[in-house]
Amino acid sequence: NPFNRADYLLAAHTHRQLPPDGGREVAFAGRSNAGKSSALNALCGRNALARVSKTPGRTQQLVYFGLPPHEGKYLVDLPGYGYAKVPQDLQAHWQAFLDGYFGSRDALAGLVVVMDIRHPLKDYDRSMIGYAMRRGLPAHALLTKADKLSRGAAMNTVQAVRKDLSATYGDSVSVQGFSGETKQGVDELRAVVAGWLEI
Ligand code: GDP
Repeated sequence: NPFNRADYLLAAHTHRQLPPDGGREVAFAGRSNAGKSSALNALCGRNALARVSKTPGRTQQLVYFGLPPHEGKYLVDLPGYGYAKVPQDLQAHWQAFLDGYFGSRDALAGLVVVMDIRHPLKDYDRSMIGYAMRRGLPAHALLTKADKLSRGAAMNTVQAVRKDLSATYGDSVSVQGFSGETKQGVDELRAVVAGWLEI
């Protein structure tokens, strides 16, 4: 597991606070409660790696995790969205930050969009995928909490989401079922992220 030494590096809420550009990083987005922290923890084989992202006040920050022994390779936890009512001006600040991040961050190699398999492809999920597509970056739809559905129902949802996204984006978006609870799909997720990071 190339992620088992993942470690908190920093939290940034302005561009100046980001680590130097030029390495490779993979960003994780998802609606609050979708299971993003659990997915990051399962990816890295750790119990509480991503808890730091949930510290109150960090809700508008990008949280970076380093991947020793690799230099300049990062996992980036984007704030969970669609949860608290964010004041209008903060929302504008955040929108501008995301525009700048997706628009200019050379290190960004791909985006994982974490969705509850029971409620996939909400507006926010689609807009995050749109950010990646406009940059010409690959995205990976992680349909988590698959353990909450029967195998058949989970497979049907994966197929339906795959069909929906490939109609618009071709093979720029991949889709998989996942569970942070049972670790179903963790090898597939590791392969996608490690491939993007070239580790
Ligand atoms: P986040 O807000 O997106 O970071 O979501 P969390 O990872 O904190 O998960 C939100 C809730 O969903 C928690 O109660 C988790 O225990 C639960 N959860 C997350 N992933 C799974 C999963 O794969 N299966 C099940 N059954 N519950 C999950």
